Amino acid sequence: MGRVDIEKYMHDHPICEACGAWVYPKKQPHHIVTRGAGGKDVPDNLLRLCHSCDSLFAHGLNGMLELVRKYPRNNRLREKVFNARPKLRDLWVLKIEGDIPFSHIDLPF
Ligand SMILES: [Zn+2]
Repeated sequence: MGRVDIEKYMHDHPICEACGAWVYPKKQPHHIVTRGAGGKDVPDNLLRLCHSCDSLFAHGLNGMLELVRKYPRNNRLREKVFNARPKLRDLWVLKIEGDIPFSHIDLPF
């Protein structure tokens, strides 16, 4: 999928892509791979999240995985995070809490 206009993405995703809750209309979608790290404005790299889910997701990879675990039947959410794994691995030559290498993290898929 190609680059999308963020405003259009927000319009097309009026509810939280994780839990289905209402999202403040002006709230911008999250980039799974951040822009600073080369993440693009493409649908596969964007997630529109409510305040509650956003606060989890903001905790880096652990938060993302926690969100995926929290909504196990949300295939689209799982797919988006799953597809970003190779890039995330490259980025965070991954040192998360307690220096756990990415490959040793218990992925929920
Ligand atoms: Zn939510």
